Amino acid sequence: MMQMNRRNFVLSATTAGLVFGLDKPLEIIPSALAQAAGAHPMNPKGALFHKFKVGGIEVTTVYDGGIYRPHDAAFIKNASIDDTKASLKASNLPDDRVPNAYTVTFVTIGGRTYMFDSGNGVGGAPGTGTLDDNMKAAGIDASELSAIVVGHFHPDHIFGLYAKDNAPIYANTEIIVPEAEYKFWADPASIEKLPEARRGLARRIQATFPQWKNIKQVANDKDAVAGIRVVPTPGHTPGHTSFLVSDGGGQLLVLGDVTNLPALNLRNPGWHVVFDQDATMAEATRRRTFDRVVADKLVCTGYHWGMPGAGTVAKDGNGYALVPVA
Ligand SMILES: [Zn+2]
Repeated sequence: MMQMNRRNFVLSATTAGLVFGLDKPLEIIPSALAQAAGAHPMNPKGALFHKFKVGGIEVTTVYDGGIYRPHDAAFIKNASIDDTKASLKASNLPDDRVPNAYTVTFVTIGGRTYMFDSGNGVGGAPGTGTLDDNMKAAGIDASELSAIVVGHFHPDHIFGLYAKDNAPIYANTEIIVPEAEYKFWADPASIEKLPEARRGLARRIQATFPQWKNIKQVANDKDAVAGIRVVPTPGHTPGHTSFLVSDGGGQLLVLGDVTNLPALNLRNPGWHVVFDQDATMAEATRRRTFDRVVADKLVCTGYHWGMPGAGTVAKDGNGYALVPVA
């Protein structure tokens, strides 16, 4: 038995709220405990990264770690803990707790490499923050990124942009963000529209992003850069955005958080996970997006899909099933 004091890993209400958007403390069990018993169930082979090609697009998904959450009746608004357990089990995941994982997508097109979102960064939940090391293992040099493309502003997606003192880590790299998302989070009037648990996040963004000179906003349905098109997928956050990457006859849809775990709301697209700010809009976006993904046979990456973090999607009963890339 490992002699670890699990109380060390109970985050304060403020921290848990900031990270997860919940109103009460959330116990995070570090992956060190899981690793003692084997790899994280959403990365069973312990992959640091995964490389594949779609047409002319070179794709690398890089693992930023995995966590577990104890079951909580508030986690999925319209499903019970028993429903949640059954859905995890049906996807061959352990059902004693809810696992989650973080995967950052990199693409190289036309000799330029782009990173989508930035991982949990320093001070994230125990078990996360492996992006930097795993990027290096994948042969990606952070100083040579052509741009960072951000899909939405939740902590697990943007805190990797920050050093501990709030200084920008990527001061010399262009950071391209959706105009709608920027507009919402940078507006002081948004703070009172947010649940208490998300207000610290908005304040951190408002204290920093307007001062950062390397942020470029891009409008819906425009090109972020040549070969990367903005696809609005709102609901998870007001300006949540996916990106369609095209090169050499290949297309890749970088989805971000259109779904959380495939085992939960890809399988059950009508489930309203607590992280979706407007759950009804998020559900409509999810159904519309995956109907298109199935019809167009698009290869996608998902931030919370576990490794390899990418695949195609098939219709499966009333929901969808992920078919991971080889
Ligand atoms: Zn996320």
